[in-house]
Amino acid sequence: MCDLSIQSIQSEKNAVTTFFFLLQRPTPAPICCECLGTERANQQGEPEELISDPSCGTSVHPKCRVYSAELVAHFKSVGWTCDDCKVCLVCAKTQTKVGPSLNL
Ligand SMILES: [Zn+2]
Ligand SMILES: [Zn+2]
Repeated sequence: MCDLSIQSIQSEKNAVTTFFFLLQRPTPAPICCECLGTERANQQGEPEELISDPSCGTSVHPKCRVYSAELVAHFKSVGWTCDDCKVCLVCAKTQTKVGPSLNL
């Protein structure tokens, strides 16, 4: 029965994160974190749109990460998550373990 309460805490946390996220939108970096190129020139010197992590503003060329066209379309609509933020997500999940044993 503990699972139920944990789930509700997690979805509440998600709602708060989303809210916070809407309030705090960092300006997307105009520079690719992989090749340090811009939208005008990727690693091959060709113009390429950058995809950005909306939570920290880090940007990357899809080609610098070898994403499939489908994945790039997904990132453009939903937003991309950089490696740093991925680690944070994992940490957050790991930290949301069942706490010290409670009697109630
Ligand atoms: Zn790049
Ligand atoms: Zn990030």
